[in-house]
Amino acid sequence: MLNIVLFGPPGAGKGTQSERLIEKYGLVHLSTGDLFRYHLKHETELGILAKTYMDQGHLVPDEVTINMLKAAVLEQDEPKGFIFDGFPRTNPQASALDELLTELHTQITLMLGLEVEEEELKTRLKQRALNSGRSDDADPEIIANRIAVYHRETAPVKDYYASQNKYVAIDGIGSIDAITARLFAAIDSRT
Ligand code: AMP
Repeated sequence: MLNIVLFGPPGAGKGTQSERLIEKYGLVHLSTGDLFRYHLKHETELGILAKTYMDQGHLVPDEVTINMLKAAVLEQDEPKGFIFDGFPRTNPQASALDELLTELHTQITLMLGLEVEEEELKTRLKQRALNSGRSDDADPEIIANRIAVYHRETAPVKDYYASQNKYVAIDGIGSIDAITARLFAAIDSRT
């Protein structure tokens, strides 16, 4: 199985690039942000709980997020592999994912980190807010919060995979096609 973690701050292009990776490698795309938004839209108990955190740009608690992700992984029938987008975002999430994949006799192949500087992220998120309908993209204070949470809680996850020799930095600046080509090259050189 090919299991990729697509990593990077909000606005780095994870969603856009995930679509390209799924198409080429036939992976199952699991975005915890998308899963939460699905629950929010359908006003499930989980959605109502997640909303309070999402509205502020905070992380949903690990236990809730991990349980939701596990269920989504286990419901797949003979997947060729996964692309994890927006997960893991904390070290406990990373070790829970390792445990789950070990149970399934597989592991993370690579973490690909899209690196984009902060001013560019803010510009992209503002632009995305115009058509995403996401309230957490529209408010500069919430955006700043999400970027701060990324630095404080999520950036250390990079070291978790780097220590296993699985982290590859990808320059996230340039055309969508150029960035896709960098991602493909990183995957193809490791598999
Ligand atoms: P995203 O679409 O990945 O930017 O996620 C939107 C929001 O969903 C985040 O700001 C968090 O509130 C929540 N969220 C998504 N993924 C996670 C995760 N792995 N852990 C905790 N909260 C998450």
